[in-house]
Amino acid sequence: MEDKKYQLLKKYFGYDDFRYGQKELIDEILSGRDVLGIMPTGAGKSICYQIPALVMDGITVVISPLISLMKDQVDTLLEMGIEAAFINSSLSDLEYRQVIEGLRNNQYKLIYVAPERFEMEGFINILSRLHISLIAVDEAHCVSQWGHDFRPSYTNIANIIQKLPSRPLIAAFTATATPIVRKDIIKLLQLKKPFTITTGFDRENIYFEVVKNENKFDFIHHYLQENKTQSGLIYCSTRKTVDSVYKKLKDKGYKVRKYHAGLSEDERSKSQEDFLYDKATIMVATNAFGMGIDKSNIRFVLHYNMPKNIESYYQEAGRAGRDGLPSNCVLLYSPADTVMNKFLIEQSSDDVDKQGEYKKLYEMVDYCNTEGCLRTYILNYFGDKVLNTICNNCSSCNNEVEEQDITIEAQKIMSCIKRMNERFGTAMVANVLKGSKNSKVTSLGFHTLPTYGIMKEYKIESIKEIIGYLIAENIVFQSGDKYPTLALGQSAYDVLKGHKTITIKRVLVKEKAKKGLKD
Ligand code: ADP
Repeated sequence: MEDKKYQLLKKYFGYDDFRYGQKELIDEILSGRDVLGIMPTGAGKSICYQIPALVMDGITVVISPLISLMKDQVDTLLEMGIEAAFINSSLSDLEYRQVIEGLRNNQYKLIYVAPERFEMEGFINILSRLHISLIAVDEAHCVSQWGHDFRPSYTNIANIIQKLPSRPLIAAFTATATPIVRKDIIKLLQLKKPFTITTGFDRENIYFEVVKNENKFDFIHHYLQENKTQSGLIYCSTRKTVDSVYKKLKDKGYKVRKYHAGLSEDERSKSQEDFLYDKATIMVATNAFGMGIDKSNIRFVLHYNMPKNIESYYQEAGRAGRDGLPSNCVLLYSPADTVMNKFLIEQSSDDVDKQGEYKKLYEMVDYCNTEGCLRTYILNYFGDKVLNTICNNCSSCNNEVEEQDITIEAQKIMSCIKRMNERFGTAMVANVLKGSKNSKVTSLGFHTLPTYGIMKEYKIESIKEIIGYLIAENIVFQSGDKYPTLALGQSAYDVLKGHKTITIKRVLVKEKAKKGLKD
């Protein structure tokens, strides 16, 4: 058996050795035990079920939420000479019938199906007639409401397996598992005393960085100038931001593509292919892009906005450097990202655990604000016990952090908000403080306020940024949908009376000239 697994690894995949975790998981599956493999993106989870599929009699059913990738995965297997097929909504009637025919003739070693398909009555009947040796559940965290990609159909998987004439082995895989998600996977997929392995979450080759208080687009432009030939991803939180960043980069002549759920299926697959096959080096996308993408030479993942939690961040960032070569993950943080995420939590449906989401959001914000080692922060979050608190490969370990007292600025801003009767939004307040001659400002008589122009030496973005920070810290409140207005919270008065000081942290990047708040 020992030889067989190595022979298959060499013959089909061309590798001499297993990576840590692969051999252990394969051995346990082949000994007849359920498994749960918790391995970071790029660790090589697929081989852990593909090799057992080849060794065992019968067929392996792979449940995967990644409809757009099934074809690629199956094509890769076919190229290697492994009989495989997929069933999802993209098949024509004829193709579907052909695959079903192939299943009846025991033609395949692996069949990939979407969880929604797995639930269908007709499909269960077909499966019931097959000899299924293994059910591999990819992206298993989708079963848990605590995970970041909850898919209701995943919760039905265990029921359906019970309907089969005999229970196959179940192998579940995920890149993301906080202890609570881990427990959910075992419980909801009804894994039987699974052999569980966590291969460790550290991605040593990735440099982590948080950048604050910089113009985001300028930073990206500068970064791309310095890394011209490299391939990378830029994640934005909304389709609108994707469109705008994409356009600006395209106008500057970069080879860039975009991807989000608002594009047609054709546009999306074209973009994806161009990026995968290096026709374009940069992909600007929402989180709709990337789950399961097998592109090993992604050198950087830049986050234009802060994601809603650490799981999402680490999964997206983890797409960098799958080949093990040095890669960069930079999160461009601004307090407005916190405001946006809070808004999204408030808008979410009633069955979402809002308190839980807020907790995760604050842990993400803490990551952006921590002065400690970023890697240590992430690893501790996922439950890896990390003793070494200086990794020397993140912006906290490599940079000096400066605390800047912004109490005076905050007082000026807040008294201006008050004098404008708490009826205007960030842009208008910032214009008044800057002393803008904008006709809106003068027509409302704001040029006569004592706070008019008291921050004229500041950049307008800096004023807005401090306002964003005050909102994120719940010192100033923003309300209203279309034209949000600013109002002072309780603690604002403590600051105005001088009972409370406010500081923000700014990273002093070595070798890079420091930019100040002022013009
Ligand atoms: P995951 O599903 O964990 O994100 P994949 O299964 O897509 O990762 O594998 C990531 C990459 O690692 C693929 O290019 C795969 O061919 C490669 N890989 C997997 N196992 C090995 C191995 N034992 N040796 C070398 N490369 C491997």
